[in-house]
Amino acid sequence: MSASNSETKLWKERYEKLAAELDNSSSFGQQNIATCRRVLTRLSRAAKGFDARLDPHLIYLRKELKEHDSNHDFLQIIETFSDKLLHYEDDSDEDLLQDAGLLFDFLISQEKNENKVRAFILLREQYEMKELDDAQELIKLLTVLSLRDDDKEEDKSALHGANLEISEQLIELLQGDEISDISHEQAEVVINMLKEGASGNFYENVSAALVLLQSIKKQDCLEKQSMDSFLDNIAQKLVGLAKNAEDVVAHTGGTFNKYDNLDTDVAESMAGLQKKVSIATNLEPLKSVMQIELEKIGKKIKLHKQEIKLDQSESDKQLALMTSEIEVMRTKTIELTANLERVTRQSLTDTLTKLPNRLAYSQRLDEEFSRWKRYHTPLCLLVWDIDFFKKINDGYGHKAGDKVLIMMGKILQKYCRETDFVARFGGEEFVMLLPNTQSSAALVLANKVRQRIEGIGFNYSGKSLKITISCGIAEAKAGNNQESLFERADKGLYAAKGNGRNQCIIA
Ligand code: GH3
Ligand code: MG
Ligand code: MG
Repeated sequence: MSASNSETKLWKERYEKLAAELDNSSSFGQQNIATCRRVLTRLSRAAKGFDARLDPHLIYLRKELKEHDSNHDFLQIIETFSDKLLHYEDDSDEDLLQDAGLLFDFLISQEKNENKVRAFILLREQYEMKELDDAQELIKLLTVLSLRDDDKEEDKSALHGANLEISEQLIELLQGDEISDISHEQAEVVINMLKEGASGNFYENVSAALVLLQSIKKQDCLEKQSMDSFLDNIAQKLVGLAKNAEDVVAHTGGTFNKYDNLDTDVAESMAGLQKKVSIATNLEPLKSVMQIELEKIGKKIKLHKQEIKLDQSESDKQLALMTSEIEVMRTKTIELTANLERVTRQSLTDTLTKLPNRLAYSQRLDEEFSRWKRYHTPLCLLVWDIDFFKKINDGYGHKAGDKVLIMMGKILQKYCRETDFVARFGGEEFVMLLPNTQSSAALVLANKVRQRIEGIGFNYSGKSLKITISCGIAEAKAGNNQESLFERADKGLYAAKGNGRNQCIIA
């Protein structure tokens, strides 16, 4: 074998090997693509209906896979599908509505069934007129219209089947929970039209259903706005009522338990109201519930106000009564105090001479004695006794004796300082307390008084009576009490009498 032959053989073998490899690889690739097509087709059927937004993409995928069987087309199809899936998660309803325009173009261009094309066009008009603003609804309708893509036969029964499914879908929408009682009657009319389903007026029926659905949606929207403003209004009213209740409670000062109960009553009613608002789905029933509840709250507040008024007038009456009673008591107290003062004064005053009496002397002696004990300032007690007074009574009469006693009291008082004290001790005896006075000074004073009395000469019925008086003086000293001090002074008096009277002696 020549070198060139062997080289040619070598190249041939290499070529055959490569060709075989290429064949294998190609058939393996073909198998894989076929498997992928099958899996994707099945998957697109299986996944249909899970998500209305995904369904158009699945329909697109299945349709494309069926119509284009070249490998190049396959790659293009799954590339496009993949792109759509990439944006799927980010799609908002608005994006979806924009995409829906492209979807209409696609579906109309692909649809061979004239009736379906008309249905798509009708739906597109609704969409372009912005009468369909709910993406879910749009996709549902598109999905319904895209059903039975596999049907190659365009016979009447297929058309009838598609129409039936559209009608059923619309009926389902018109029977939905969101259809309010007010729209229910209209919905019933259209549902009956769709059920009777004369094929001649099928599209008019669909159109009527779509128009009704749209008007219901608008009605819902208006109702929602109305509900919002109504709730706003209610909220304001509740705030007003709560303030009213607060004012009432504040006005009464919250002193009575029943006023505190008003707070609780209103709070409970409001809580009940909030609960009813939160579970309410329709405005009209809610309005009547609100009306009833507000009336209840209003009545409660009115009742409380009435109770408060009653209590107020009752307490006003009681207050007036108490005030007048207090006034009476105050007047009585003043009277009693005056009486007491008068009686006390009387009890401490000698009725004849108007000088303090023996009781007053006793009290004053206690005071002066404790002051002397505390401050050790001198304190003198003087005991006076009119000489031979019995003779005056006997000679001139008791009245003359009284007059002498009165005159004697005045003279004794006249010679006293403000801080000194004079009292009638009893009969024709007088006592005198001289604080801050030593016995020597007391003696000087006593003699001045005695001499004054001696020199007066009392007139009685034109006659001049000579009257003298004697005095015993004692200065408080250690070991004395009130009685022993008096006894000492009395001893001085006794000595003065014994010495011939008309004299003053320190004991
Ligand atoms: P002596 O100098 O020893 O004190 O003699 P006296 O007469 O003053 O003493 P005595 O005790 O004997 O008499 C006191 C009299 O004073 C007796 C009594 O009738 C009289 N007397 C007492 N109280 C009153 C009174 O209120 N009014 C009048 N008019 N006389 C009274
Ligand atoms: Mg006497
Ligand atoms: Mg006497």
